[in-house]
Amino acid sequence: MDVGTVMIRKERMVSLKKQESKQGVIAYFCMEYGLESSFKIYSGGLGILAGDHLKACKDKGLPVVGIGIKWEQGYVEQYLDKEGAVTDCYRNINCSHLEDTGTIVEVIIREEKVPVKVWKTEAYGNVPLLLLDTNISGSPHHGITKNLYGGNSEDRVAQEIVLGAGGIKALRAMGYSVNTYHFNEGHAVIAGLELIAEKMSRGVSFHDAWEETKKEIVFTTHTPVEAGNETHPISRFLYMNANQGLTIEQLIEIGGAPFNMTVAGLRLSRKVNTVAELHLETTKKMWKSVTGKAPMINITNGVHLKTWMDDGFLEQKLEKEKCLELHQKNKKNLIKLIEERTGAVFQPEKLTIGFARRMTPYKRSDLIFSDRSKIDLLLKQEKIQLVFSGKAHPMDNAGKEKMGAIYEMQKKYPNAIVFLQNYDMEIGALITRGCDVWLNNPQRPKEACGTSGMKAAMNGVLNLSILDGWWPEACQHGVNGWAIGDVITPKTEEQQDQKDAKALYEMMEKEVIPLYYENTEKWADMMLKSIETTKEAFSAERMVDEYWNKMYKPKKGRGLV
Ligand SMILES: *Cc1c(COP(=O)(O)O)cnc(C)c1O
Repeated sequence: MDVGTVMIRKERMVSLKKQESKQGVIAYFCMEYGLESSFKIYSGGLGILAGDHLKACKDKGLPVVGIGIKWEQGYVEQYLDKEGAVTDCYRNINCSHLEDTGTIVEVIIREEKVPVKVWKTEAYGNVPLLLLDTNISGSPHHGITKNLYGGNSEDRVAQEIVLGAGGIKALRAMGYSVNTYHFNEGHAVIAGLELIAEKMSRGVSFHDAWEETKKEIVFTTHTPVEAGNETHPISRFLYMNANQGLTIEQLIEIGGAPFNMTVAGLRLSRKVNTVAELHLETTKKMWKSVTGKAPMINITNGVHLKTWMDDGFLEQKLEKEKCLELHQKNKKNLIKLIEERTGAVFQPEKLTIGFARRMTPYKRSDLIFSDRSKIDLLLKQEKIQLVFSGKAHPMDNAGKEKMGAIYEMQKKYPNAIVFLQNYDMEIGALITRGCDVWLNNPQRPKEACGTSGMKAAMNGVLNLSILDGWWPEACQHGVNGWAIGDVITPKTEEQQDQKDAKALYEMMEKEVIPLYYENTEKWADMMLKSIETTKEAFSAERMVDEYWNKMYKPKKGRGLV
């Protein structure tokens, strides 16, 4: 970009800012935020995306305010014992950097008044983050905001009332003028019910209030698997007071019965977006029969470069030799972390393959182990070393078993296979910089987007991935990484596993391993290509530009798009 464009951009930004101060802010709602590794109000991908979104909005000077929850303990911490069994534990989060706004709002849950305290951080400059908290001394409701994604379905609804209804009330109490409410995932849709109820309390009819509310909301959906979309029996919504005074019939009109949080999001908003091109196709098919939904577009996720890219790669275009040198430094940092955390000694010269995901069966963390004779041979010949990380949801026993299976392999090959426990942003940053190859092999098409592969790609770590999520948009096979298999998906999961495992071994044996050991020159070319083709295209900066232009952008003069 030349200086002229930068100047024009700056001017445009200033004029946008002026316009915005009159037109109000974008209120971004999310259950979790991954902003700093140690501030553990996040669980995984959704939170990291939200954190990167706020950071990119800050960098661009956009008028955004984040709404989330001040989790007392946050998401589970997870350790494996000597038998490979998983232990879950919870730790209080250090929130000493948060500012007490002095604002307390009230929501109704199970017919009781629940006070909600509003905290704030201004660590992200023009993008303040408001965090809602029921942990007020003396309040019998202090436990609602204790554990992110913890508890049962009723606890979840209570948390969503705090986020949704509490979020709207907090914005009102603090005097924000809001242009657009952005619900990042369905957890926040109760805010939409609250916005309808607000208008109805001023005498507006239900349908008019809904129409007006739709103009104010945009919605991002994330789950391409039908069963992953949260639903609640209407009766639960009523006795929990999640309905915000709406009748059974009105609730059903919005979210169906049972009340589907995603369907509600589709019907409460003026525009919906998915998070990758393929995800748009899957989502359209999935919700084909839903009437009255908003138009749907795609905005592929991106990652915040300053958070996830090595400074050396970020600041300049490197020559091959420098590129390899910088990568080797990152690889040694990862190897050091592995040794500190596990005692395993990895080799800096050996091809290192990384895999870090939520541990859940469809991500198939053990696909690479499915042909034991092949993998044993590769390990015995000392061709590869493997580093894994990830957490399983505390209730996901099948996911926990996957962790146990990796652990078993680690026992057999203690200096070539390692599982880094308690995956977080710190591990995320080191592992996506320090491996040589980033492996991703979910069942297709179950990955909405996947952002860890982007982090890897822009650090010169070559993706070896199923054509799912974001990868079909970026993959130039053999140029900037590799595809495992093709876009034809067999009918049964068993057939898929077999086909994909075969393709994975073939790629490793015929392409990846020979190239790594025999043609460093070409490997470095691919690293440079990987960086060049992903750095801008999959940045959060590009992503929020798209959100601004396609989802948020207010029309001149009149309020909204
Ligand atoms: C980037 C990141 C994620 C999201 O990665 P996916 O590719 O969606 O699995 C999750 N957790 C952590 C700690 C991350 O850094």
